[in-house]
Amino acid sequence: MAPRAPPAYDPIPLNKPLYKAIADTGSVSGARKLVNSFNLPIRSGRAWEVRAGQVCRIITPEGPQVGDLNIWNRHNPRERFWAARTRQLQQSHVKLFDRLWSCLPFLRPLVTVTADSLSNYGVDEAGGRVHDLLGTRCDPYVNQLISGTSFDFQCHSNLTRAVLPYGLSESDVHDVLNVFQVAGLDESGRYFMQPCPAKAGDYWEFFAETDVLCALSTCPGGDLSQWGWGEGAEGSGTDMLSCCRPLAVEVYELMNREELLKDWKEPLPAAYRGIHGLVLDPNSSRV
Ligand SMILES: [Zn+2]
Repeated sequence: MAPRAPPAYDPIPLNKPLYKAIADTGSVSGARKLVNSFNLPIRSGRAWEVRAGQVCRIITPEGPQVGDLNIWNRHNPRERFWAARTRQLQQSHVKLFDRLWSCLPFLRPLVTVTADSLSNYGVDEAGGRVHDLLGTRCDPYVNQLISGTSFDFQCHSNLTRAVLPYGLSESDVHDVLNVFQVAGLDESGRYFMQPCPAKAGDYWEFFAETDVLCALSTCPGGDLSQWGWGEGAEGSGTDMLSCCRPLAVEVYELMNREELLKDWKEPLPAAYRGIHGLVLDPNSSRV
């Protein structure tokens, strides 16, 4: 076997002390002010805004539950999270201080991960890792295809309902980050999912690099311990409903923001300003 080539993408440098300082505000009394919080019931979706420079925490308040997360530029929904490129620039599963990158023609970090209470999960015996970027949201189309049944509360549908109040629609829903989800590829390269390891009070948190709109779905598969297709995977011996728990979201303002973020600047879109080799011929005539 040929030796494996090094990783194709070197990490894009980031100001680690800055993000460490932002992360540290989570454990200092009075360093953050809660500006928004809500619970997300089972099998539902909700969208919310996070302003540039704020921190947002997603929590498993009652124990294991997977969340499917979408992110857009709040002011331009054409700029949205790009799971595939993030997978290459970071890795298959999101880690502390990783960034979630936006699609073309923007390609900039929308958010940076500043806390992860499951950061010690590492690689399990099956080869699974947590906070999965390999897979995507469950959706009613593949559910119908596989199970022959119709179900309206897959993550894709939950996210679709969530964004409607913001003027977005089903076509704005995109590939997700599966927060708290353990997944991997088996020896054949086939995708697998493991039960969610989160306990009550576990959390995953990000710093918003620009004004973003987020949407989160509490996956109808719950903690994925009895996962199957269809609403309750009837007849398969599974009881997915009992595996479902709520998630919670908290948004914080950083109190000492001016000092803390003095070296931070909102990232600009990638610098390419070419026109993809298109040649405009001044001699061509048009009537
Ligand atoms: Zn789902």
